[in-house]
Amino acid sequence: MSEARILDGKAFAARLCARIARQVGALQQSRGLKPGLAAVRVGDNPASEIYVRNKTKQACEAGMNSWQHRLPAEASQDQLLDLIRRLNEDRQVHGILVQLPLPGGIDAGAAIDAVDPAKDVDGFHVINAGRLVTRGPGGPSGVMVPGTPLGCLMLIKDHLDKLEGLEALVLGRSNIVGKPMAHLLLAEHCTVTIAHSRTRDLAAMCRRADILVAAVGRAELVRGDWIKPGATVIDVGINRIEGADGKTRLVGDVAFAEAVEVAGAITPVPGGVGPMTIACLLQNTVTACCRQAGIPVPEA
Ligand code: NDP
Repeated sequence: MSEARILDGKAFAARLCARIARQVGALQQSRGLKPGLAAVRVGDNPASEIYVRNKTKQACEAGMNSWQHRLPAEASQDQLLDLIRRLNEDRQVHGILVQLPLPGGIDAGAAIDAVDPAKDVDGFHVINAGRLVTRGPGGPSGVMVPGTPLGCLMLIKDHLDKLEGLEALVLGRSNIVGKPMAHLLLAEHCTVTIAHSRTRDLAAMCRRADILVAAVGRAELVRGDWIKPGATVIDVGINRIEGADGKTRLVGDVAFAEAVEVAGAITPVPGGVGPMTIACLLQNTVTACCRQAGIPVPEA
């Protein structure tokens, strides 16, 4: 069998970001509107610092307003909720993201619940999660879909014309990836299974899947012989491992070198799902801005 098609998330996301920049330009020119993204970070988690910096930088590059708000690690829950309330009321801010994880002592659920659902560009608020489950991602429901699963779906659809009736396995059941991913695939009429740490015989489950989305955070858990020949494999995992040379490198949840021999298409790590997450966050910010102004998202 020939090697899988590599689903290049980096290139796809670059095209998406270029389109978003055109939309932002059109909004400014025709309506005097500038989408604005506010990122909130608490404490000094180094990974969060990098993520937030990348998100705000890319928002600026797309022509948006973007702000970073940082509270000290010892900030109280009330301080965080006060900041979120101020951002909810600020008409220049169309999207708010609260970077997770938050330090111990702060209730992440309460922080997410405090964000105005219309500005919840991460799609984590219970209102948006509920709308996705009950009404699906499209139409007039006003749902915000989390960026990572939205980006995964775009890559899947870039490869497959028709998802209807396909068997999809989502490995992982987190609120930010696994569960919304499963609902997006269900809305595409896939037959969806969600697997997790208590699933029996994961390998057998994987072998049935026409579409396999791995979001577990376990380096190279999914082996090549777990994959159905020709399957579309989306690797969300980001794991840092140490190589024989003592240097660290990033790998996904799928053993790429084995899987690429069997799959029909596969995302690399890095350069697969990661860049799509930020691009979809920016797309959500444009959508939020347009919805708040009561206008359609411009074609671009
Ligand atoms: P969570 O830790 O919240 O969830 C992991 C899920 O995997 C859980 O449902 C857990 O099961 C399941 N799991 C863990 N170990 C196993 C196992 N051995 N077998 C089967 N299932 C298992 O992680 P996230 O969803 O937040 O993230 C998953 C991965 O994706 C991480 O590597 C993360 O870094 C990455 N990620 C990447 C993003 C990107 O932009 N590329 C964005 C977000 C995340 P249970 O529920 O039973 O505990």
